[in-house]
Amino acid sequence: MKHNFGAGPGILPHEVLKQAAAAVVDFNGIGLSILEISHRSPEFEAVLDEAVKLVKELLEVPEGYSVLFLQGGASTQFAMVPYNLLAGNAKAAYVESGVWANKALKEAKYFGQVDVIATSKESNFTYIPKDYEVPADAAYLHLTSNNTIYGTQLHHFPKSPIPVVCDMSSDIFSRTINVADFGLIYAGAQKNMGPAGTTLVIVKDELLGKVDRKIPSMLDYKIQIDNGSMYNTPPVFAIYVSMLTLAWVKSKGGVAAIQKENEAKAKVLYGEIERNPLFKPVCATEDRSNMNVCFVMENAELEKPFLKLCDERGIIGIKGHRSVGGFRASIYNALSINSVYALVEVMQEFAEKNK
Ligand SMILES: *Cc1c(COP(=O)(O)O)cnc(C)c1O
Repeated sequence: MKHNFGAGPGILPHEVLKQAAAAVVDFNGIGLSILEISHRSPEFEAVLDEAVKLVKELLEVPEGYSVLFLQGGASTQFAMVPYNLLAGNAKAAYVESGVWANKALKEAKYFGQVDVIATSKESNFTYIPKDYEVPADAAYLHLTSNNTIYGTQLHHFPKSPIPVVCDMSSDIFSRTINVADFGLIYAGAQKNMGPAGTTLVIVKDELLGKVDRKIPSMLDYKIQIDNGSMYNTPPVFAIYVSMLTLAWVKSKGGVAAIQKENEAKAKVLYGEIERNPLFKPVCATEDRSNMNVCFVMENAELEKPFLKLCDERGIIGIKGHRSVGGFRASIYNALSINSVYALVEVMQEFAEKNK
């Protein structure tokens, strides 16, 4: 078995893969594959209901919110959010904490005015901007909770007088959150929730229906809610595997228990990066991500041989994003602490060889 540190599509629990594989051949003993049943069948409706129920349970979603499983990835949400929430004569506030935030705000400009209230672009996004005031007259504040490429994470969400919209693609279900603090949360499934192909949206119902532009049906949250995420054929398999993964999170003791494990994994890995003379961290200490751990080498010439040794030891997917360089170890929910120990061991072995 490989140690999968890939950033996305990311690691899934082995039990989930086994269940999904069996369901591809025979779903729940009905003699049909999950891939060939009607999305309107009672069997699939039960899957979708269970997935929605698990989201509500695991995140303690309060009354007044709807849970959707949509398509088009988080990138479609970059446009769908302003399409539904930003009137043409209004403005939205964006914190630019990375490339995904930048892409989100670019889409918003198609729909209304965009106020970039803070950015860390000048430092190649090595920290989370914090020094800003949220304008009370904006339609919403857009945040990215975890910056997958740079390895920074918002550990304290700012107080906001306006609804907060948050892209949680790479840390959803990795830690407890207070859903009531948000107007809308979205997350592409393929980092920490399931396979690529579906996007989770949790939206506060009262925010909808306030913009009077015409919205195409597929991109209209209200229509998606009224149709229970089934305005068209939903991504049946991606929702099924997400449901299995959420059930796995529940079986591990829920999000709070997973959070403890994630913190423990991050502590071990950052500890080694700091201790080991060959490596150094990339990001501001207080903003370090517990999901994507970015680090570089003091001597860049050693990067290739280190990657080679990792490969030999079954450590996969730790090459950093091209815009940061170095290494990025993604330690999502499904990655066990033993995989982190395996990486630490290779780091120590490599340091020993290169004294
Ligand atoms: C991966 C990622 C995205 C893009 O997701 P897609 O589903 O590929 O559109 C957006 N935001 C964040 C924070 C991501 O990590």
